[in-house]
Amino acid sequence: MAAEQPEQPAATPPEQPPPKPATTPARTPARRSRSGRNSTIHGVPRYSLRTREKYMNERQQEHFRQILHAWKKELMEEVDRTMNHMQSQAANFPDASDRATQEEEFAFKLRTRDRERKLIRKIDQTLELIENDEYGWCEQCGVEIGIRRLEARPTATLCIDCKTLDEIKERQVAKRQVAN
Ligand SMILES: [Zn+2]
Repeated sequence: MAAEQPEQPAATPPEQPPPKPATTPARTPARRSRSGRNSTIHGVPRYSLRTREKYMNERQQEHFRQILHAWKKELMEEVDRTMNHMQSQAANFPDASDRATQEEEFAFKLRTRDRERKLIRKIDQTLELIENDEYGWCEQCGVEIGIRRLEARPTATLCIDCKTLDEIKERQVAKRQVAN
């Protein structure tokens, strides 16, 4: 007959695992352009101008092609997400008051999607301009629109002066319409 095992004294608490080092989420180093922070355009680093570089040379055209393609991809993904979201939302049938809210939300999303689609068309037209060597010049006065302005607004077809004039004219027309 086995001798009764003396009851074990309360076991010393199991050794605590050493506290985990605070895990910092694995971060892939953001691609940075040479000038550093915050200077990518749809993920494409800002263009570094070389001295006496010809305006809209092959390299510059390629730069804007990349920006436009990256932007278009973002927009297309956004349109897809919106559509998927709306489809899954439409599937669960909420009560009437929810439905009213949902319809507003849908209307808003549809307008957003339309804007995105228009923008995608505009991007396609801009890519065509690059292919035809017509990208980067003001369509009204013919001057160079400029790399930095194009980076801020890759689909711009007017130089800043013509754009400003246009906006002034638009405002005047709008005012006249209000007055009439
Ligand atoms: Zn102009």
